[in-house]
Amino acid sequence: MTTLADLEALALSCVACPLASSRTKVVFSAGNPAADLMLVGEAPGRDEDLAGEPFVGRSGQLLDKLLAEELGIDRSGCYIANVVKCRPPGNRDPLPLEVAACRHFLESQIELVAPKVIVSLGNFASRTLLDVTEGVTSLRGRSYSYRGTVVVPTFHPAYALRAGPVVIAEMRADLVRAKKYLV
Ligand code: URA
Repeated sequence: MTTLADLEALALSCVACPLASSRTKVVFSAGNPAADLMLVGEAPGRDEDLAGEPFVGRSGQLLDKLLAEELGIDRSGCYIANVVKCRPPGNRDPLPLEVAACRHFLESQIELVAPKVIVSLGNFASRTLLDVTEGVTSLRGRSYSYRGTVVVPTFHPAYALRAGPVVIAEMRADLVRAKKYLV
């Protein structure tokens, strides 16, 4: 097995799909690889593409707030990655060929970080990790397994920002659900 540093070096020079030609920066991860909690998002947006770090825009601000308020942690208390490491132009959903080219990075990240629980953020990450077609609205409220690791699906913070307080309250409840697996 490789190390996270080797994996990141591979990702930073990856040209396995067409997103390599439109990205500014590869967005590999943020946070602490020794953490018991891992969060998985979809793909970098504009802010993340510029910064080279996941969830630094408005969605990330909401995520940071919910992590602080519900779990009492900041980014040093979790590890954050996306399914796809480069920004899809115009923030469209990643294409199947992009996911296929990129998913080995996420699979290795999960293996190397070996978290106790993964919170999948939104439809895209939840469907990719759980290999299902249902949306997060019907998936959430229960926990699942990804290769033996507990997965707690919740809404994507970008959706929660648009949807408002009810959805944000449901995200909070999902984070509390994830917390039970962190003991
Ligand atoms: N949305 C995501 O899914 N990931 C990010 O890193 C930023 C926004």
